[in-house]
Amino acid sequence: MDWWVSMPKVELHAHLNGSIRDSTLLELARELGNKGLVCFPDVEHVILKDDRSLTEVFKLFDLIHILTTDHETVTRITKEVIEDFAAENVVYLELRTTPKKNVSKGMNKKSYMEAVLEGLRAVTTVEVDIFSEHNFDSPANASTFARGNDCASNGTGKKKIYVRLLLSIDRRETTEAAMETVKLALEMRHLGVVGIDLSGNPVIGEWLTFLPALEFAKEQGLLITLHCGEVSNPVEIHAMLDFLPSRIGHACCFGEAEWAKLKSLKIPVEICLTSNIRTETISSVDIHHFADLYNSGHPIVLCTDDSGVFSTSVSGEYSLASSSFGIQKRAMFQLAKNAINFIFAGHRNEMNTSDLVEVGTKGSI
Ligand code: 5GP
Repeated sequence: MDWWVSMPKVELHAHLNGSIRDSTLLELARELGNKGLVCFPDVEHVILKDDRSLTEVFKLFDLIHILTTDHETVTRITKEVIEDFAAENVVYLELRTTPKKNVSKGMNKKSYMEAVLEGLRAVTTVEVDIFSEHNFDSPANASTFARGNDCASNGTGKKKIYVRLLLSIDRRETTEAAMETVKLALEMRHLGVVGIDLSGNPVIGEWLTFLPALEFAKEQGLLITLHCGEVSNPVEIHAMLDFLPSRIGHACCFGEAEWAKLKSLKIPVEICLTSNIRTETISSVDIHHFADLYNSGHPIVLCTDDSGVFSTSVSGEYSLASSSFGIQKRAMFQLAKNAINFIFAGHRNEMNTSDLVEVGTKGSI
């Protein structure tokens, strides 16, 4: 097995509906096609298309949501996504998703999230830790990440994956809708919800619309990650950095002043190489800001964004970074290990990252 697959990894930026298997999307499209609800050949073409601009990606998400937004399907895709990440030795996953209403299916934001939780419980190929309530005394100990996995140690003979949830606010939403999502996150804290994400089409919506809900979330102890700088918008980027989120995603369209601020604040960046290249947000991997952030020791974590939509995997991102920037296996392992420092679990003592020792894989170096 290649080292980038066998190496234990942490995934902190994965959107549920962006991480669906193509085969599942096609099966769902075929079912709706048979019922005359979508035109299957058209949908098939869109799903299998490889290169998409950022704008086209958001059109694709609208299509995906038509295929997936009923309780049963949400449960199915959640189960499959967890199993896929676990299969490539992701040991800790923060999965984000936008709670949705779908009146025709009797779905509200809460029942959507209950369907997600049902999906976590439905996983069979791996043991899923959804919301361990351990109160560990020792501080987070990333060095334990390097130890091998003992499948038998958890008594099931199965690998284990820790999963925590982030609820996403879509930039199309109103302040009230954003607040509803934050209140739902607070209500579901004991069920593994650890934070809030702001995502959705970056050319839609105003920062000030979401700020009250994000401030409330922060006051209540939820951690926040923001999609920041996917398009050039210095005013918004500065406002987002001033908010002091716990992490940001992408950071593609930063100018000198924004880089300086980000670096001085040391806000960790979720780097999504394939996503940025596929959407042409960054023209080629060799000029990606990963290199500068990595070389300057800025906190970064490699992530997929949308493994289904961009046909990638966490292992693929590690392999790509290693080959593109000439980083050797040992340093890549260190990069993977450092990601533990930026996870949202453990901030309320509900999990200590030293617990990850039990789920490191045999292939660790
Ligand atoms: P969901 O929240 O429905 O599970 O996952 C899909 C949603 O995540 C999309 O509709 C969009 O709001 C958000 N998303 C996925 N990928 C991206 C991305 O690259 N950039 C931004 N800004 N949002 C994204």
